[in-house]
Amino acid sequence: MVIKALIDLFYPPRCPFCNELLGPYRETEADLLETGSGIGISSLQGLLCRRCANELPWIEKSCPKCAFPLAEGENKCYHCSGRKFSFEFCSALGRYRGKARDALHRFKYQGKKYLAEPLGKLLSKKIAPEPWISSVDFIVPIPLSRQRLSERGYNQASLLAKVLSRELSLPMEEFLERVKNTSSQTGLNRRQRAENLSRAFSCCREIPGGSHILLVDDVFTSGATANEASKVLKESGAARVSVAVLAR
Ligand SMILES: [Zn+2]
Ligand SMILES: [Zn+2]
Repeated sequence: MVIKALIDLFYPPRCPFCNELLGPYRETEADLLETGSGIGISSLQGLLCRRCANELPWIEKSCPKCAFPLAEGENKCYHCSGRKFSFEFCSALGRYRGKARDALHRFKYQGKKYLAEPLGKLLSKKIAPEPWISSVDFIVPIPLSRQRLSERGYNQASLLAKVLSRELSLPMEEFLERVKNTSSQTGLNRRQRAENLSRAFSCCREIPGGSHILLVDDVFTSGATANEASKVLKESGAARVSVAVLAR
């Protein structure tokens, strides 16, 4: 507690999205508005500023399978209907745009490792109420290739997984290895993405039979990465895989 107070004194908490100093939210009428995050406003306190809480592209209602946002009253997901994924569920904190995308870029490409803490806490608040979370046995991050890891110095998915592991009291295991240094997925269509990732992962340890794995990554785009990783986890003993990402 004392250490936390000292850290807060010298490095007062700032909003991960706009870098504003964080104070308590004002108890005005506007403060009681829903944010659209599906997360109670009081539990966002201390993690991001009030303005960003209102402006972020949160995902509230989404397809349980691929986390694509669904409009009110909409139940069919046009993004994944007819597609078969090897994972069961996917949950995402927000859309990959605006302030959320900017923060993610700082976290992933500009060395801002400390963003794992607030972003991971937000993601844990998002997935804690999911009905499938109670059956999860292990949290597993999507790995980077050795080359990418040495260039970047850290794996952003591992940093997030560590925060989720602590917040949700679930063990984190780095079961996966990236054995193929895949080229960027940007600009590839769905089929090309799947081919590019084929056999990109391998499982470095035996997974206790019947386990339900929560796979963690920063972004979910076509689902090819999560799908390929889930396939490998299931071939190595996992019974079920679900996915959590910051952005969709
Ligand atoms: Zn902010
Ligand atoms: Zn879907």
